[in-house]
Amino acid sequence: MNLAGKVALVTGSTSGIGLGIARAMAEAGAGIMLNGFGKPEDIEKERAGIEADFGVKVAYSGADLSTGSGVRQMVAEAEAAFGRVDILVNNAGIQFVADIVDFPEDKWDAIIAINLSSAFHGIKAAAPGMKARGWGRIINIASAHGLVASGQKSAYVAAKHGILGLTKVAGIELANTGVTCNAICPGWVLTPLVEKQLQDRAAKNGTSFEEEKDALVSEKQPMKQFSTPAQIGALAVFLCSDGAMTITGAPLSIDGGWVAQ
Ligand code: NAD
Repeated sequence: MNLAGKVALVTGSTSGIGLGIARAMAEAGAGIMLNGFGKPEDIEKERAGIEADFGVKVAYSGADLSTGSGVRQMVAEAEAAFGRVDILVNNAGIQFVADIVDFPEDKWDAIIAINLSSAFHGIKAAAPGMKARGWGRIINIASAHGLVASGQKSAYVAAKHGILGLTKVAGIELANTGVTCNAICPGWVLTPLVEKQLQDRAAKNGTSFEEEKDALVSEKQPMKQFSTPAQIGALAVFLCSDGAMTITGAPLSIDGGWVAQ
């Protein structure tokens, strides 16, 4: 896959799945705009590491994607640094777990803003340039929880179902422009977002992290193994290829059989 000359903006790419996608896009030759939070020295290490490993330009935007203005600022920073955004990966996300009756309203608002609305604002800002150039790829990182639900994840499941709807609408609106929009629906991937849930479960159940790891993956997935950020990255790179030119508006599962049941 050759993405030389293309520019990929990957939100939430200082960690986990986003970082795996950024590295896969860089390996395929794309210039990369990183985004997300973290210690400045850690982010600079990742940024410089990707540049050194793959010989592509890598820039960073620390924009907070919980507001539309933050998202527009990030897209503007990418366009200023690279002159264009060809690939937009809406990946940034957060999680909070509680029953609906106990769910804090500020957590609901934050999850909807970051996991759903930021993708709308990003597509609105980046799609006009893609259309003008006649080529673009928008990839929304949804979840198995975009297709099926679990208890205690009302905001997350609502946001992920919502992002599949947004993906379908964008796919239809951008058809015949050279721009596709698809969603990747991962099952479990062992990232800081999931490690926090495992630590909480171990504390609550008086078990070990390793026991909870096995239990978590076994509860939902026939294939009892985590997918890796590199595997999610490989699927994202495929969606940028000519082979994927007519895939649009689609949810693509990479979940060890979770939603096949
Ligand atoms: P992670 O916690 O490792 O990474 C999340 C990233 O988002 C980080 O870079 C963080 O700094 C960034 N971020 C959070 N809030 C932000 C904000 N307001 N503005 C800008 N950046 C922000 O999580 P992850 O597991 O890699 O999750 C990435 C995406 O994949 C999320 O959308 C998540 O819902 C989805 N996902 C994860 C799994 C899994 O098992 N890990 C499964 C399915 C879907």
